[in-house]
Amino acid sequence: MMIDISNIIKLEGAKESFEGEVVFSEETDFGENIRLAKPVRVQGVMENLGGVFDFHAQGEADMVFQCARCLKEFTKTVTFSMDERFSKEGNEEYLKIEHNKADITDAVYMNLLLNLPQRVLCSEQCKGLCSSCGVDRNLSQCDCKKEEGDPRFAVLKNLLK
Ligand SMILES: [Zn+2]
Ligand SMILES: [Zn+2]
Repeated sequence: MMIDISNIIKLEGAKESFEGEVVFSEETDFGENIRLAKPVRVQGVMENLGGVFDFHAQGEADMVFQCARCLKEFTKTVTFSMDERFSKEGNEEYLKIEHNKADITDAVYMNLLLNLPQRVLCSEQCKGLCSSCGVDRNLSQCDCKKEEGDPRFAVLKNLLK
């Protein structure tokens, strides 16, 4: 997503607000079993701080995750905020402005990655899969005995024999 800053590029202290959607390609890597359900919604302000431009924005991404317990896919909205700097020259510290436009796509990607949860559950109450027969215990019950269902107990029981 490109932000046109021609209105503020010569005026120190001037601000340009923007709102829009950042589209990522299907191949964009967000991590194992994580993908975007929709383009990322972004809204924020670009401010001329005198040669350097402050990019401050909020992002909202609807993402498809896989539950760590039952392996079911579900959608969850990730919200995050961003604070980056742009300059005409661009360097390690500042992102580059080209033809009076700031491309915020990489900044949005990096900030979204930093804000992704490490381990996600479809619900705190998710019962997960039976470790013996693999049935989704949220949907149905199986005949496995609880004791035998936990592989750690099975190992213990065999040791005690
Ligand atoms: Zn689950
Ligand atoms: Zn079972």
